[in-house]
Amino acid sequence: MRENTYLSEQLIKIAKDCGTYQVGLISTKDLIVYPEVRDMCKMNTCRGYGTTWACPPAVGPIEECLAKAQQYDTMLLFSCKYDLEDSFDYEGMVAGMEAFKQLACAFDHALKQTLQPYLMLANEGCHKCKSCTYPDAPCRFPDELHASLEAYGFNVSELARLAGINYINGQNTVTYFGALCFNQT
Ligand code: SF4
Repeated sequence: MRENTYLSEQLIKIAKDCGTYQVGLISTKDLIVYPEVRDMCKMNTCRGYGTTWACPPAVGPIEECLAKAQQYDTMLLFSCKYDLEDSFDYEGMVAGMEAFKQLACAFDHALKQTLQPYLMLANEGCHKCKSCTYPDAPCRFPDELHASLEAYGFNVSELARLAGINYINGQNTVTYFGALCFNQT
């Protein structure tokens, strides 16, 4: 876990004000990317592979993804948990996923006033436009595009451990994660 500075305290406050459940800091030197995670994307169980600029293969090889994150010295991992009716509550999971995307957008919007440059990653693919331009034309909103943590090859449970926050938050809940990479120094 990385030490807090005045800047990171400010960013944590903004994240909390936007409705995050937990936040924690990681030194980007500790980040590892895994080909197995990218392989899971390729299996396309989430049906996002090759559909938007937020997912593989558009995000590039995992080594390039890691280099993009490591242009910054710190990752602020943030999460939000959502209640489910039971562990089969698929609609609740989808609603939580969409709510988390909106949270990440609100956090991103709030950051734009105080922080530049940075890299924001979030969950799943991108559902911003009714029809994505991928692969025929550039993304319509590149400044608001949040690639998924898994697309980058990160093991999210490992990130949660490094950040000192919960990966799982109890029965009948689902937790989604995003990350802000920024420079403290
Ligand atoms: S913002 Fe629109 S064009 Fe860009 S990746 Fe998302 S859906 Fe596609």
